[in-house]
Amino acid sequence: MRQTKTPSFITELSLKTTPVQESTILVRLDTGRQLYNACLGEGLTRLDLIRQSKEFQAIQKLPKTKDGEPNKERTDAFKQLNKKYRFTEYDIHHYAAGIRNSWINEHIGILIAQKIATRAFKAVQKKAFGMAKNVRFKGKNQFDSLEGKNNTTGLIFRNNTLYWSGMEIPCIVDPDNDLISYGLKHRVKYCRLVRRKINDRNRFYVQLILEGTPYQNPNNTIGTEEIGLDVGPSTIAVVGDTRAELKQFCSELIPDQKKKRKLQRKLDRSRRATNPDNYNENGTVKKSKKGSKNWIKSNRYKAISLELSETDRKLAAHRKSLHGRDINEILTIGTRIKTEDVPYKAWQKMYGKSIGIRAPSMFMSSLTRKAENAGGSFDEFPTQTTKLSQICHICEEAVKKPLSMRWHVCCNIRMQRDLYSGFLAKCVDVNTGSLDAARAKILWPGLEPILSEAVSRAYQTAIGKASPASFGFSGILSQSSSLVKPATSISEAMDVVISQMRNESHRELI
Ligand SMILES: [Zn+2]
Repeated sequence: MRQTKTPSFITELSLKTTPVQESTILVRLDTGRQLYNACLGEGLTRLDLIRQSKEFQAIQKLPKTKDGEPNKERTDAFKQLNKKYRFTEYDIHHYAAGIRNSWINEHIGILIAQKIATRAFKAVQKKAFGMAKNVRFKGKNQFDSLEGKNNTTGLIFRNNTLYWSGMEIPCIVDPDNDLISYGLKHRVKYCRLVRRKINDRNRFYVQLILEGTPYQNPNNTIGTEEIGLDVGPSTIAVVGDTRAELKQFCSELIPDQKKKRKLQRKLDRSRRATNPDNYNENGTVKKSKKGSKNWIKSNRYKAISLELSETDRKLAAHRKSLHGRDINEILTIGTRIKTEDVPYKAWQKMYGKSIGIRAPSMFMSSLTRKAENAGGSFDEFPTQTTKLSQICHICEEAVKKPLSMRWHVCCNIRMQRDLYSGFLAKCVDVNTGSLDAARAKILWPGLEPILSEAVSRAYQTAIGKASPASFGFSGILSQSSSLVKPATSISEAMDVVISQMRNESHRELI
């Protein structure tokens, strides 16, 4: 299908809905939800039948690989089995069409129904492949979007208006917004209707999936340097040819997260106060005897819960803008990016929620997309083979560095470790995926002063923060302001700053 082949980007417009249109949309979203749940249920049933079948057991015993390649015989056998039990995207489409004819017909077009079926099928597939433990049915008001397959049937955008089975909804278009004007010059592949709950009110948007590459702000020039990138749990290091940066990664989200935690605790206290009978004396929730317990939701509880979801939404929006800012900063240096493939899941276990709110994987995939859209490249190397956080490029030996050690020290090199890892990533040979030590040796003398400058710049920003107390810098300010001169004391002070930031954010977040 042509729409999957060409690059796309999204432009979003607010919809100017009337109350009648709003209720119609809500009914359609809920119909979509029911269809989704039905397809999900049917998919799960079929998956169960497959797993209980004798054939399944037999195929599973076949070797996964043959001569180092995936075993084709096994893959094909599974494919046949899926067909037999009608567990394919096509079959779930067919199933959706069947229900649609009975009661969904008047609300949702066939193509929209197919997209919903695909979404449900993919969710079940994730479970089938072991990528997800379970699938979730959508509860009332939990289904927030619907989309078509083209711009000619179902959801249609034309002349700044969204047409949808009898409805004509004007879109709010700001003619002075360059981003929107740019988007509207492109061909619409298909439209997606989105509902967001903002301050307990429903707001509706249309997302136009457009053919082409996203708008590039003319103020954001695109650089041409090759970049080594290191994203750590709380830092981000960028190493180009003539420029380098060491920054806190999304540290601005910490106050948001604090607020969120506070509300969560408040919510919990409120729930306990109104439902004392549901708790044991030691504070744990009582196991219910029959079915689910009765939980009373007080007005106060509802108000806090509303504030919490609003805080959540703001946090996500804030994160998105911080990611965008950092990505643009990287792209102004260059678009050919090399980095280590980082085990975010493992991090999450070590650092807890402070990683979750920063969403490094989301950052990486967004960076990849934007770099590629700008004509660049994104190369990731497996940590196991490169071991960039351990190795020294002079003696090529692994230097044991506990995570608490923020400096790489070996063979007369002393460098902040994230910047050093970024430097090594830059020197990885993309073909072999291993460090090109000869190249590193050539580049190091030129880059060392650039990296050192990045360290002292980061240090200056850190101590220059308006509210040092909130970051735990108050001690640093008095300790170091008099003695920051030689490079070593800068690096030591920086070390303390970083470790304090780290401790501070962990105390708050875990
Ligand atoms: Zn060494």
